Amino acid sequence: MLEISNLSHTYGSGPSAHTALGGIDLSVAEGELVCIVGPSGCGKSTLLRSVAGLITPTGGRVLLKGVPVDQTPDDLAVVFQDYSRSLFPWMSVADNVSLPLRRKGQDKRQRRRSALDALEQVGLGGAADKYPWQLSGGMQQRVSIARALAYRPSLLLMDEPFGSVDAQTREDLEDLTLRVRRHHNMTILLITHDIDESVYVGDRVVVLSKSPAGIAGDLRVDLPSP
Ligand code: ADP
Ligand code: ADP
Repeated sequence: MLEISNLSHTYGSGPSAHTALGGIDLSVAEGELVCIVGPSGCGKSTLLRSVAGLITPTGGRVLLKGVPVDQTPDDLAVVFQDYSRSLFPWMSVADNVSLPLRRKGQDKRQRRRSALDALEQVGLGGAADKYPWQLSGGMQQRVSIARALAYRPSLLLMDEPFGSVDAQTREDLEDLTLRVRRHHNMTILLITHDIDESVYVGDRVVVLSKSPAGIAGDLRVDLPSP
C-alpha cells in the first residue's frame, strides 16, 4: 500500500541546514495500523508531512499503491493534533465534514449524506448542525476524524491525534480509531510519543532514532487477548 524508500529531508541550506530525516525505508501493508514513535524533535512530523505531500522531501520517494504521493492527493487524509485549527469555526459541523467531498465531485445531497453517516460512526450524529466552538475538544477531534472517514482515503495519516485531549477522551478516541479502522479496513500511519498508546492501537510500532531520524526498531504487536 505504502512504500517509503530512502526518504531524507533537510530543512534550510548552508550553515543553518538541519537534516531531519536520514534515509528512511518503510513498507506498510494494506489494512495495517503502524505507529511511529520517537523522542520529540526526532523527525516524526517531517516524516508524516513528507508522506502527505505537504512538504517535498529532499531525497527518496514515497509511493502510494505504486504511484508517487504528490500525484495521488485524493487518496489520503490527515488528522492533526490541533483540531482547533483544522475546523472552520463559521461552518457547521456537517459542512466541515462534507467540504473536502466537493473535490470528489459529490453533489450537495450526497455530501450531506456522507457527512451524516461519518458523524454517526464517531457518535456525533446529533451534532451535525452545531458549530465546532459549541463542542468540547474531544468532540471537535471526533469531527476531524469523521471528516477523514467521509473522504474514504486509502491511507489515513494521524499526527499526535490524541495529544490535546484529556486522558479519558484519549482512551475513547483510541477505541474509536480501532473501531472505524476495522469497519473500513483502512491503512493508518499514526504518530505518537506515547509508547503505551502505540502498543495499544498499533499492529506494528516503528521506533525512530534521534535526529536525523532513522529506523531504530520495527516491532509487531501481539496484544494478549482479554
Ligand atoms: P517531531 O515531530 O518528532 O517532534 P519534527 O519532524 O517536527 O519532529 O522536527 C524534526 C527536526 O526538524 C527538529 O529538530 C525540528 O526543530 C526541525 N524542523 C521541523 N520543522 C522545521 C522547519 N520548518 N524548519 C527548520 N527546521 C525544522
Ligand atoms: P512537534 O514536536 O509537535 O512535531 P514542533 O513544536 O517541533 O512540533 O514544531 C511546530 C511547528 O514549528 C512545525 O510546523 C515545525 O515545522 C516548525 N518548526 C519546528 N522546528 C523549527 C525550526 N527549527 N525552524 C523553523 N520551524 C520549525
